Amino acid sequence: MATQTDLLHPVAEQHSNFWQNAHLYFDRVFQTMNLEQAWRPVLSSPKRVLTVSCPIRMDDGKIQVFTGYRVQHNNARGPFKGGIRYDASVNRDEVMALAMLQTWKNALVGLPYGGAKGGVVCEPKKLSLGEKERLTRRYTSEIMPIVGPNEDIPAPDAGTDAQVMSWYLDTYSMMVGHQELGCVTGKPVSLGGSVGREEATGRGVMNILRKFLATQNKQIEGSRVVVQGFGNVGSHAARLIEQRGGVVIGISDKNGGIFNEKGVDIEEAIAYYKTSGSLEDFEGGDSISNEELITGECDVLVPAAMESTITEAIATHIKARVVVEGANGPTTPKADEILRENGVTVLPDILANAGGVTVSYFEWVQGLQNFFWEKKQVEDELQKVMERAFDAVNAKADEADCDYRTAAYTIAIGRVTEACRLKGLFP
Ligand code: NAD
Repeated sequence: MATQTDLLHPVAEQHSNFWQNAHLYFDRVFQTMNLEQAWRPVLSSPKRVLTVSCPIRMDDGKIQVFTGYRVQHNNARGPFKGGIRYDASVNRDEVMALAMLQTWKNALVGLPYGGAKGGVVCEPKKLSLGEKERLTRRYTSEIMPIVGPNEDIPAPDAGTDAQVMSWYLDTYSMMVGHQELGCVTGKPVSLGGSVGREEATGRGVMNILRKFLATQNKQIEGSRVVVQGFGNVGSHAARLIEQRGGVVIGISDKNGGIFNEKGVDIEEAIAYYKTSGSLEDFEGGDSISNEELITGECDVLVPAAMESTITEAIATHIKARVVVEGANGPTTPKADEILRENGVTVLPDILANAGGVTVSYFEWVQGLQNFFWEKKQVEDELQKVMERAFDAVNAKADEADCDYRTAAYTIAIGRVTEACRLKGLFP
């Protein structure tokens, strides 16, 4: 029989490596900061974790049940905000870790949001359009009790896009009885989305790379760049880097990579990827494995696929001098250490890929005001936010003589802890 002590201290849950990595990055910095230790367990745990079952009628008439999650990590600085991921590998730990990363990211770039994340365990490319719509509508209605324009505002992430956000908007709006533009971001422009949102994460990656290179008296022009992952983030980052004279010598997706020493034609690759859904048999370069691609000779590596793709074993062989984390959590803590020892600069995810949520914030503001911006305004404001965040991280790294990830976490954790402390505890 469980004793009183057992009930107070339940057996520690076994968490995934990714969850542990996210906590290690947080803990390591929190411990070194002069903060009231009592906030550590508060910031280590999500405020709310919702698991839902979504039964869907498939095209063949059978019913299939999909599991979904919405995790709200912390809302001391404002309503929860974070993407929704559709992928076969989605699990509770992953969504909890991503929600925590989102809290730090939103605080680091100064957005008035807390952090959240959602996910549905499914293979989006294997669902028909109708199945994906029914799944999205059911998932939206299942998480309705905890979301809303002032509570929690989702957005796209891996496996979801503007079409999924349109179904989310419609389902939410139907259930509240009026169109509620502020309930979700990443919508198509014709449905109250923001111009520039789709490419915003990739644009932010380019902005941060450019700012960092400038500190080294270098520039994007002429830099040899490898991009891992060719979805929303990777393809736009590659395109914008190429537009500024960068030579993107390698790109890849889940099934493998393409290498071309003279530079892959990114517009051609995007057109090919759009029609075939993969880079397989793309003729703009030589086929190469993902591992060969990211450990090959280049100046800059942009991991823009999924978490934990840069492991200890791979980090040792990385030849790039700069890693710009387009994906969330691509580098494990051991790999991070190896890269640092080898003199590789890592521009961390919570800084480098914050462009998406920043333009999501602009979209939310536009939707609440029903007043829409021009593309130039979006791009200029985004650049301002990214550059300000980079300058703050760069200054902190200089002042504390530490790496960029530690500097970014120090700023973000400091801001979130301050908000928690000022608000105090309810009731
Ligand atoms: P996406 O689904 O559009 O594309 C993912 C790409 O990565 C695909 O080309 C896929 O084939 C590839 N991929 C998956 N596993 C891979 C592997 N092991 N090796 C190589 N390629 C692999 O997803 P996305 O929206 O571009 O998101 C990518 C990453 O960026 C995720 O970590 C996501 O959380 C993060 N992110 C996305 C946004 C956004 O606005 N979409 C914002 C911030 C961060």
